[in-house]
Amino acid sequence: TAQLIDGKALARSMEAKLAERIRALPRKPVLAVLLVGEDPASRVYVRNKVLACERTGIESRSVHLPETATEEDVIRQVRAWNEDPTVDGILVQLPLPRGIDAQRVIETVALEKDVDGFHVGSAGALMTGREGFRPCTPSGVMEMLESIGYELRGKHALVIGRSNIVGKPMAMMLLEKDATVTVAHSRTPNTKELALAADVIVAAAGRADLVTADMVKPGAVVIDVGMNRRPDGRLCGDVADDVRDAAGWLTPVPGGVGPMTIAMLLVNTVRSAEMRLGAK
Ligand code: NAD
Repeated sequence: TAQLIDGKALARSMEAKLAERIRALPRKPVLAVLLVGEDPASRVYVRNKVLACERTGIESRSVHLPETATEEDVIRQVRAWNEDPTVDGILVQLPLPRGIDAQRVIETVALEKDVDGFHVGSAGALMTGREGFRPCTPSGVMEMLESIGYELRGKHALVIGRSNIVGKPMAMMLLEKDATVTVAHSRTPNTKELALAADVIVAAAGRADLVTADMVKPGAVVIDVGMNRRPDGRLCGDVADDVRDAAGWLTPVPGGVGPMTIAMLLVNTVRSAEMRLGAK
């Protein structure tokens, strides 16, 4: 059966290292978090990010705007944080209420404070191999692969999903490490066949039980990014339970990619503070 990659434990050990870097700074790093409206899942995500900041020694400043806030209200808040020299990172929790152009809001975030890595400038930097903030979920996946000493060079990686926040940046990061990358999506007719040829599968489609044991090459590394709710309310990923018997390595849900995503947000925030404060 597969060895599990414990994302929660890895995230906690990264947080401990960050706490040391933070102690070397003249002030605490500051993460500004904007929540708009009443989406219950978003409230949970924001809460988890704020708690992680507290554990690590990052100051979080949250602003919660009502569902009725306009695009201009949201942009005004982002601009205020852009101009505030004590703010190191700005996070706008998605999704935003209907009628607000999320992409326009994200492009308003100053590039040097874009700790989510969603700004078109950050995406462009990743695409062209330049320095910049990288999206937290695929960065967390890369850390997990590194934690098991996995050599990606020459391996075949299949990314299932092509969103701007997970699938596409994931493919770029794997490519950067010399993997041969295939991206499957909702219009791919032969995902099973592609999966069977893959040494690494990153499932990020948001479909429970999308990846089953009969799609996994024996010993493959299977990274489960999905976060879905079963009808009974239980949380699950995109990878079916029986994959445990086929994969060599597997990330659990919960306790896998989720905590790593938050850890990478903290990493980006500390890096931003270090650059702003002239450390290292
Ligand atoms: P999205 O809905 O924006 O994108 C889903 C992608 O999957 C699309 O590109 C679509 O083409 C593809 N897809 C859908 N059905 C498919 C199928 N049957 N076969 C192949 N491809 C298919 O979602 P997202 O924002 O990229 O998130 C994906 C999943 O990852 C969701 O479950 C989300 O909750 C989860 N997620 C988890 C974290 C975390 O921290 N653990 C972070 C971000 C997203």
